[in-house]
Amino acid sequence: GGVDTQLLEVESLHKSFGGITALGGVTFEVESGTLTGLIGPNGAGKSTTFSIIGGMLQADSGAIQFGGEDITGESPDYIARKGLVRTFQMSREFQNMTVIENMMIAPTSQRGESAIQSITPGLREDVSEQEEDIFEKAWEMLELFDIDHLALENAGALSGGQRKLLELARALMLEPEMLLLDEPFAGVNPTLEKKLINRIERLRDKGQTFLLVEHDMDMIMDHCEQVIVMHQGDTLLTGTPEEVQSEERVIEAYLGE
Ligand code: ADP
Ligand code: MG
Repeated sequence: GGVDTQLLEVESLHKSFGGITALGGVTFEVESGTLTGLIGPNGAGKSTTFSIIGGMLQADSGAIQFGGEDITGESPDYIARKGLVRTFQMSREFQNMTVIENMMIAPTSQRGESAIQSITPGLREDVSEQEEDIFEKAWEMLELFDIDHLALENAGALSGGQRKLLELARALMLEPEMLLLDEPFAGVNPTLEKKLINRIERLRDKGQTFLLVEHDMDMIMDHCEQVIVMHQGDTLLTGTPEEVQSEERVIEAYLGE
């Protein structure tokens, strides 16, 4: 065999909620430096799988390896520090902060360092060099995502689509080796969606790894080099878009929805 380039290895995840089996043996691998799609009908277990990988939820059994290390059962902070980040929904306290503050607090709060109290430049005289660097990076990221004009708005006042962009931009502030994106384009207009997927592809080309849950099949088939198919808490198969599209089992899974 060749060199093992699998960055993420998920093995036989099981998870029940009460008497209901959400995951019944989810198993897949994600190769380093790829944009990999994770698809499946509603209720297939995609979000539950992401929550377990990200450490927000504990599996009943199964194992997760990231970069050759067993991260099963570790905390979200620990996993993020290792370079694996799941986009997270904004909690109430973040909604009461401005967009730029949200961006700047991401690298510190997720890495377990002390949170910066007031970080909007101009409000404090002793802005450290590190904070200046973070500010610059945050601003660049906001420009990249076309939300720089909203920098001083309260995050809670953003539209659904704008909030999605902020969540993605925030996660990228951490410069993670791998990002788990759960329907990142929901509510985002098609023009911006196209721009975003192109940005993601560029980041992928520079070596970052993405696992993307997305309902738009054209988007998955046009941009992902590997596709993992889930159905009813199980992984059906992994393959190239062409392989997956021609599989009878995949067609059945979707028609049976
Ligand atoms: P997907 O993201 O693919 O639509 P989910 O992972 O959200 O699927 O859900 C998988 C299954 O687990 C569904 O049947 C869902 O109802 C169930 N489920 C998910 N989270 C919970 C929860 N917190 N409590 C109870 N059932 C849950
Ligand atoms: Mg989901």
